[in-house]
Amino acid sequence: MKAIFYENHGGPEVLQYGELPEPEVRPGSVKIDVKAMSVNHIDCFLRGGLERVTIPFPHIPGCDAAGVVVEVGRGVSDHKPGDRVLLNPCVNCGHCEFCLRGDASLCTRFQLIGETTSGTSCERIVVPGRNAIPIPDDMTFEDAASIPLVFVTAWRMLITRGRLRPGEDILILGASAGVGIACIQIAKVTGARVIAAASTDEKLAVCRELGADELINYKQEDFTRRVRELTNKRGVDVVVDYIGNDTWVKSLKSLVRGGRLVTCGATTGFDPKTDLRYIFFRQLEVIGSTTGSHNELMAPFKLICDGKMRPVVGETYPLADMASAHVSMEARRAIGKIVVRVSA
Ligand SMILES: [Zn+2]
Repeated sequence: MKAIFYENHGGPEVLQYGELPEPEVRPGSVKIDVKAMSVNHIDCFLRGGLERVTIPFPHIPGCDAAGVVVEVGRGVSDHKPGDRVLLNPCVNCGHCEFCLRGDASLCTRFQLIGETTSGTSCERIVVPGRNAIPIPDDMTFEDAASIPLVFVTAWRMLITRGRLRPGEDILILGASAGVGIACIQIAKVTGARVIAAASTDEKLAVCRELGADELINYKQEDFTRRVRELTNKRGVDVVVDYIGNDTWVKSLKSLVRGGRLVTCGATTGFDPKTDLRYIFFRQLEVIGSTTGSHNELMAPFKLICDGKMRPVVGETYPLADMASAHVSMEARRAIGKIVVRVSA
């Protein structure tokens, strides 16, 4: 099968386009003919090499995908060849302490497809049957492939972990990127007032289209000062900060007393200088979150199917040009998701 893979860590130039053996279907699993996949920051971080993650080479990158079921393994009764599906990239054991209490993303044997296992930028992939989720006939594979990781991550971060409530003010940094566009829409559906911050007016225009109430161009104005103006010096209830080093202390300073900072990543660096005085005197909560459970994906997916939210695909590339997709991701240029077409 055609695949994108790499045999050593490095920049986008290590990505190779070529032939790899097609995987065999296993009991309990399904084989998918991948039509489209989408790129996430983690694809680029893994390609560059992460300190505590060892991956076997050749590695096929990619967590998100959508396609058609072509073969079902023994014991799978809820799928058949021809089903159109998207993939839930989160694989958990189902019986550890954390799975049993519903926190699949805390599973002691948690795996993200495309992280330590073979990923989605190839023509065929085998995944556990329960990770294939049927999509409506009128949903394109490109749209479907753009949904899973960012929407499950945003839902768990804002709703489960961040406890966002109607009427609250939320500041979303990096609001036009993949997780950001999911956060804006989930916050609006919840009934919060959304302050979206991004680096260009073009990106902010899309945030406005998605329902953001207030816009901040943080290249042109200090977002903490602007948040104070917009909230009559009160501060926001929740800040979403997956930027990290560049924004951390300013995010803390944007919160109301007792406010919550939620984070699911650190795209500009993971070791920011912090100011503990803000955290204890103002009784702030710093809340970490990562990926999510089946239910935390199904909740936003249902809202998308009902037309209450929508996927946002900013750029598309052919499979052979994955390197350009990674370059764009690292430049944080795209508005919304970067999708790669895998097969016709
Ligand atoms: Zn588990």
